[in-house]
Amino acid sequence: KDAVNIACLDEYSKKHFPLCMRHMHEVLTSTHHLKHNGRLQYGLFLKGIGVLYESANEFWRREFTKAMDSDKFEKKYSYNFKHQYGLVGNRVDYSPYSCIKIIMSNVGPGETHGCPFKHWDNAYLKSKLNEYGVDQEGVKEIMTLVSNKHYQIACTKYFELTHGQQQAANSIIHPNQYFEESMNLTK
Ligand code: SF4
Repeated sequence: KDAVNIACLDEYSKKHFPLCMRHMHEVLTSTHHLKHNGRLQYGLFLKGIGVLYESANEFWRREFTKAMDSDKFEKKYSYNFKHQYGLVGNRVDYSPYSCIKIIMSNVGPGETHGCPFKHWDNAYLKSKLNEYGVDQEGVKEIMTLVSNKHYQIACTKYFELTHGQQQAANSIIHPNQYFEESMNLTK
């Protein structure tokens, strides 16, 4: 049984996902597409929070087929998700990416993966932080950390500011850890 029901992803993305994953969830559900590296980064995160293969495939199919026919999805994209779960090819059971791996990745134009604190331009990051409920002072604090290249500390601060000042038990080093810590606060 899935630890996380895909029907909850919209709600969870707002409450429990780090900024990188919330952004990809929103791009996916509004444009019905993510490029290759985004599919990997977000897909493996979903796998890590406990979405099983069948549900993952259903979720991606549902989104992608809002913008393409299901034949094309099956032929061109379905394999990706089998691959992520180690069901085809070299059958490697891929792990979700850590923050360091995400921070070190290259993000080209039009791509939505990566770490917002590292890869977004300042104006866009500020406006998103605002939109997601971080107050002016918090935005300032985060932007100072970002300008000093303390991306994970900025993310840890973002966690605190979006959880009513409650801190994560540990500094954020992994998007899946972010999710678990956030879920723990609801218990
Ligand atoms: Fe995502 Fe990690 Fe960046 Fe936070 S620090 S936004 S969890 S990659």
